[in-house]
Amino acid sequence: QCITHCPVGALVERDDTERLWRAFADPNKVVVVQVAPAVRTAWAEDSNLGREAGTVNKIFEGLKKMGADYVFDTSFSADLTIMEEAYEFIDRFSNGDLKERPMFTSCCPGWVRFIKSQYPHLVKQLSTAKSPMQMFGSVMKSYFAQSIGKNPEDIVSVAIMPCLAKKGESNMELFHGEYAGHDTDLVITTREFVRMLRASHINIENLVGIEPDKLFHDYSGAGVIFGATGGVMEAALRTAYHAIMGVNCPADAFDVVRASSQETGIVEANFELNGTNLRIGVANGLGNARKLIDSVENGEKHYDFVEIMACPGGCVGGGGQPIHDGSELAFERGKNLYFIDESSTIRYSHENPDIKAIYENYFTEPNSHKAHSLLHTDHNLWEMPSAPKKNRNGYVLPAKI
Ligand code: SF4
Repeated sequence: QCITHCPVGALVERDDTERLWRAFADPNKVVVVQVAPAVRTAWAEDSNLGREAGTVNKIFEGLKKMGADYVFDTSFSADLTIMEEAYEFIDRFSNGDLKERPMFTSCCPGWVRFIKSQYPHLVKQLSTAKSPMQMFGSVMKSYFAQSIGKNPEDIVSVAIMPCLAKKGESNMELFHGEYAGHDTDLVITTREFVRMLRASHINIENLVGIEPDKLFHDYSGAGVIFGATGGVMEAALRTAYHAIMGVNCPADAFDVVRASSQETGIVEANFELNGTNLRIGVANGLGNARKLIDSVENGEKHYDFVEIMACPGGCVGGGGQPIHDGSELAFERGKNLYFIDESSTIRYSHENPDIKAIYENYFTEPNSHKAHSLLHTDHNLWEMPSAPKKNRNGYVLPAKI
């Protein structure tokens, strides 16, 4: 089953809802579902709930009613990504590996595909940290499976994502040797999730909301802002500051990296950290990414750490979110995530109690051997897909994503 959203039919969105219904119905499988930060900003846009009442806890309740065994917030594993990425940056920055600067974030598969195809000589400058979605799946099939007495193959790891490129990311080959198969078995977009709710005859106005399950119940505001452009950088800087200075910075100390509107395609900032000048760049949209990289390549700009998200506004503006013809809601949705962050009792990834517990009980410390085997990847291990196939009349066949 395919649904096309591309006006020229060049891209076809794969519909995975049937596969998820089958997983829910399989008594031999444990279905664990994670929900990305950006999904909560958009799933209720077409309902009477509106965006404020459309909380992630109501998404969790809807998922349990449909058949999910465990529900979690991807913001937890965004905190895990921050721990790994912030410590990787400090390591590269302080031991001289950042001779070739900047280090680029790697959590956006649209951006990773872009750099691999357009600037392959810069791939080595990508962080090796997996995206929050992939880290979550990895933890599900290892630490979590062990904790509930299951084998990795008993687990179906599902992600509700605002993103079409995540479907491709979940299919990438893995070579960690810890378990067979993929970190994430199924990716369902926000639009697909809303269709599934309707098909289940769940009246979302009657949902009251439930908490995510343990062992990964807690998440920080820093994990939530991952869904907006600048959020990954801001969250990473909060934790990097703590790692270097031994104390927390004010939670909003790095808020200048946020894009204020659709017109803000590239943000630059300099920070003094322990006597060192840190040069930061943030871009959203691939046109802006190209401008930023070209300015580095021609020696006009110098950065130490750069965040790039392929979609305008970041994941809140992702291709799997509801579409409202003629209006772009990404930056409005992003404000919701910053509001959730400001209202959170935990605003630093390193202060998330469940993150502390997983390092104490399993990974020991960020970038440990165990963490590298499960939470990091080698971007050179997979090739870019070959050029689209043509049929005998010379028409390009739609690519499934
Ligand atoms: Fe996906 Fe867009 Fe987010 Fe990148 S920015 S992860 S392509 S939704």
